[in-house]
Amino acid sequence: MPMIDFAGASEALGRADGILIVTHVEPDGDAIGSLLGLGNALRAQGQDVTCAVDGGVPPGLQFLPCADQVLSTLAGLQADLLICVDASRPERVGQVGAQGMAHCSTVINLDHHVSNTGFGDIQLVMPEAASASEVVFHWLRCLSLPLSPDVARPLLTGLVTDTLGFRTSNVRAGTLRIALELMEPGISLHDIVAQTFDCRPFAELRLWQQVLPSLTLDRGVVAAQIRVEDSRLAGLEAGEDGDLPSLLRSTAEARVAVVFRELEDGNVSLSMRSKPPWDVARVAVALGGGGHAQAAGATIAGPLQAARDRVLPLLHVAANGGSATAGP
Ligand code: AMP
Ligand code: MN
Ligand code: MN
Repeated sequence: MPMIDFAGASEALGRADGILIVTHVEPDGDAIGSLLGLGNALRAQGQDVTCAVDGGVPPGLQFLPCADQVLSTLAGLQADLLICVDASRPERVGQVGAQGMAHCSTVINLDHHVSNTGFGDIQLVMPEAASASEVVFHWLRCLSLPLSPDVARPLLTGLVTDTLGFRTSNVRAGTLRIALELMEPGISLHDIVAQTFDCRPFAELRLWQQVLPSLTLDRGVVAAQIRVEDSRLAGLEAGEDGDLPSLLRSTAEARVAVVFRELEDGNVSLSMRSKPPWDVARVAVALGGGGHAQAAGATIAGPLQAARDRVLPLLHVAANGGSATAGP
């Protein structure tokens, strides 16, 4: 089965009697960008499209066109084609994704995670792409669909946010060429940066203030932890941390960075980052999660100290020669 079957996916679109597009839970800019870029393009072609993600679009991404049409729950679904975007595993698409899988006869898996499990009937998986939004871009080009502003803005947002502003190691000349094409309809790169990176709620800095005393540096591994109590004191939901892991990775001494987040249910979510060539995707997969070589995550059993005792030795191996690999 080919991992990039644009022809098969396009045929499935032609046959579809209603399309449901979903993405991963706790969606980031690429999740919502690829969801809306694809959804808006197909809807403009007269397709019957429903976009959904558990909990809806986070407040920080509601500036994107048609974000208000994304459903947070599903009732009375009219679709026989499910498209999952930016999700490496079927479990990542949450409740709405599970409903879609139970209901739809065909599943398209559109993604760029190196850890993608190859789920679904038709795969559009490009691990070399820096964002799922780029995969959508390539598919729209195959379909000869126009890049209207309502399509280009979400896709450029996905591309900009997943590359941390074109700063990740998987940015190639081709990535910038796509960005250039996405700007052609009059989309401002500055506006997107202003609405994403430069739009940090003060509460996130309060959270950093609260949790940075937990910071440690040991043999190239920088770590911090967020207790449920810390998020509550800062007035944030669990998971909203302003990309603290990337802040930790930016330190000169860091090869690998990790944030341990205590969840309400007692489990611990891990958010890991690395500098090339150190690879955290392998550690994430070994722990039942996934991601990219330089940004990966997993959810494991708590409490916090048990999670630290389990994960830090693996990260020390990853940061000290044990499992260095090249590329995303
Ligand atoms: P985060 O640290 O949450 O920004 O996630 C970094 C990368 O790892 C993203 O590509 C996520 O999609 C992926 N990721 C995070 N948590 C998980 C998980 N539990 N399972 C699979 N992939 C994950
Ligand atoms: Mn994502
Ligand atoms: Mn992505």
